[in-house]
Amino acid sequence: MSYLNELLKKVRERVSIVECPVCKETSKQLMSKVSQGLVLCCPHCRALFVIEHK
Ligand SMILES: [Zn+2]
Repeated sequence: MSYLNELLKKVRERVSIVECPVCKETSKQLMSKVSQGLVLCCPHCRALFVIEHK
């Protein structure tokens, strides 16, 4: 089952934990979306937000 482990590892690497600015809950978001400054959707309160990079 090493293939599955590889796959999970890759998926994990592409996910970033972000904090929702509205409800302060954390959620997993795709790294590609976060790094490109795309709109993210909070699964807890359904707010749309963007992570700003400094
Ligand atoms: Zn939220």
